[in-house]
Amino acid sequence: MNYIVLDLEWNQSHTGNHAEVKELPFEIIDLGAIKLNQEMHMLDEFNQLIRPSVYDKMHHVTSKIIHLHMKDLMKGHPFEQVMRAFLDWCGNDIVFCTWGSMDLVEIQRNMSYYGMNPLSDRPIRYLDVQKLFSIAYEDRKSQRSLEYAIDYLSLPKDIPFHRAFSDAYYTAKILTAMEPAVLKNYSYDTYILPKNRAEEIHVDFDTYHKYISVEFADKSAALTDREVLSTRCYLCAGKKNLKRKVRWFSNNGKHYYCVSLCPIHGYMKSKIRIKKTQTNGVYVIKTSKFISEEDFIEIQSKKDSMKKPRRHKKKK
Ligand SMILES: [Zn+2]
Repeated sequence: MNYIVLDLEWNQSHTGNHAEVKELPFEIIDLGAIKLNQEMHMLDEFNQLIRPSVYDKMHHVTSKIIHLHMKDLMKGHPFEQVMRAFLDWCGNDIVFCTWGSMDLVEIQRNMSYYGMNPLSDRPIRYLDVQKLFSIAYEDRKSQRSLEYAIDYLSLPKDIPFHRAFSDAYYTAKILTAMEPAVLKNYSYDTYILPKNRAEEIHVDFDTYHKYISVEFADKSAALTDREVLSTRCYLCAGKKNLKRKVRWFSNNGKHYYCVSLCPIHGYMKSKIRIKKTQTNGVYVIKTSKFISEEDFIEIQSKKDSMKKPRRHKKKK
């Protein structure tokens, strides 16, 4: 197995010049990657510019950040040619690694625009190195810039940032500096969703469980689905549905919470996030984790306070 540390730069519609093409809001113009083996040794590199075919002017933000000009890009090759060369170069049995969660979505959106098959027929297990950085060194939630992470780890800044190849190189440097145990915290790219119940994702991490559903027509279909609403103990062998102590509720219409009780493992909090799909449907990401009794009481009172009518009228 090899790791493919990938980075992309893209251009977008320049107002007043070229209206946005809905199927391709971000046109990839630069693709860089580093191949690492399982022992994290650098084996090879990939670095190609892509000649644009949709947006023929650089968006001012793009040119400011990445210092690429149209005349440079015109020396590049068409997307499909670069992509085929890249996939050949990747080989089989690989794990993609990216800084943040955007690149695998955008590369597949570009592939789709040119009629190419997506990278996989189901969600792709990959490593989001930005997330791993937060898990390894910060609060598991922060989203730092690549340069911040390089500075934090006191790694040498020997090439300029913000080109696909250099950012892939720096991402690879950060990845190789990490404790191997952190790499258990992989992510799933959901550009392609599970197509049936057997393909749905159920996975245990150190501190929580994650579920990724099939696509539903709309939110109400998702929120009446038994599997979506189920609250099974992911630590118990039988994975029995647990008795709910706080039934599903939402305070914003986007996130839903409930708390159930396992007689062996204690209070389990589940959270549902409703996400939009490419085709105007929805899918669900549900995470479950065990919480303290104090946290349970806090969630219970949060729900109770929502139900009560206001006792005091607004002061004028
Ligand atoms: Zn249990």
